[in-house]
Amino acid sequence: MNHQKSEALFAKACRYIPGGVNSPVRAFANVKEIPLFVDHADGAYLYDVDGNAYLDFICSWGPMILGHNHPLLVNGMEEVMRKGISYGLCTPDEEHLAKLICDAYRGMDMVRMVNSGTEATMSAIRIARGYTKRNKIIKFEGCYHGHSDCLLVKSGSGALTFGTPTSPGVPEDMVKHTLVCRYNDLASVKEVMEQYPDDIAAVIIEPVAGNMGVVGANASFLKGLRALCDEYHSVLIFDEVITGFRLAYGGAAQYYGITPDMACFGKIIGAGLPVGAYGGKKEIMSCVSPCGPIYQAGTLSGNPLAMHLGTLLLDYLKTHPHLYTELADKGHYLKTGIEKLLQEKGLPFQVHQCGSLLTLFFTDTAISSYDEVKTCSQDMFTTYFHTLYEEGILLAPSPYEAMFLSDAHTKEQLDYVLDKIALALDKVKR
Ligand code: PLP
Repeated sequence: MNHQKSEALFAKACRYIPGGVNSPVRAFANVKEIPLFVDHADGAYLYDVDGNAYLDFICSWGPMILGHNHPLLVNGMEEVMRKGISYGLCTPDEEHLAKLICDAYRGMDMVRMVNSGTEATMSAIRIARGYTKRNKIIKFEGCYHGHSDCLLVKSGSGALTFGTPTSPGVPEDMVKHTLVCRYNDLASVKEVMEQYPDDIAAVIIEPVAGNMGVVGANASFLKGLRALCDEYHSVLIFDEVITGFRLAYGGAAQYYGITPDMACFGKIIGAGLPVGAYGGKKEIMSCVSPCGPIYQAGTLSGNPLAMHLGTLLLDYLKTHPHLYTELADKGHYLKTGIEKLLQEKGLPFQVHQCGSLLTLFFTDTAISSYDEVKTCSQDMFTTYFHTLYEEGILLAPSPYEAMFLSDAHTKEQLDYVLDKIALALDKVKR
């Protein structure tokens, strides 16, 4: 595959942008590649500047649940842009999107829009701290909640890939209130709660982790967290930036039937435009300025473009509930297909799938937390990634990311992918 134009652009970009990229995982360095420079995308396909086509399983890291260039969203964008781009004032779509989110999500009385998932989790933590008048928070090893200081501790995603779970530039003082527990290990949470019975403001979790590969929480673990938060009066925050409106219309909360006190969103709710949101119980959200004393603001928060596309997409998802069944079917189809190949080839790897999220872990260890994720082979993943890449199948260039399925992916395309996975597994085996 020819990547000449991408190479030339990358060389130029490195002059002006650190590492040539605006987010580390895009560097492809992890798989010893140069970044791919995109020209355009359509449906399930993405086309680079060299004219190569790829079946895209990155899907903009989650937002493109309908695939690329969906007419509903393209037409909606044109329509809203013609009216004006940004006002920094209220628009009807803000109310519409907030209502859609509150109606969709268990226990969500009010929601505040922000501009990214990072802002959503950072703000939710501040509100939980202000509401409880406590400082400490609990997060889980391998979970990523964006790059704000107090949450950049033992995170997943890029931070995990690059082996710098706690980044330089984050003072010790900023993370001294962040306590890290083991995913799916309720005893580790209980221990911390017992040690600091009056100090834990919030417990934040990805209910299905997507940033150490796909690792689902056990339902009993999440129920246990709910009970511990009730007992110790801590705020339970579900980070649904990936899972919100993807796992189910009502996110992981609906999927598990568990109601958190607060939840954070991003990705799908902006249909591909920069967005985030946090919300929860009225009692908590009433503390947010200007209702209450806890300050949080944003020049472009609730911007008209993202709000309009968000309302179009959520309205669509709400009225097409079969889409979730179909996405889960496709996920299951891919999972069972890969498992069959693994069995045929005598390979002991693990396939995790939850709805339209899937990860193949290159380890013979059963995985339920970050400790086991760390046993995966990066070298095997690199071989696997490269073989698929050369065959025009684009996975996230990291073993710790999910494969995202969209409505645009067809069973025929998945059959093609399974054929090529067979090839890739043969190479991994050598
Ligand atoms: N939370 C989760 C679960 C995420 O996966 C991400 C990003 O991938 C974030 C938060 C941060 O979102 P953003 O990249 O929009 O800041």
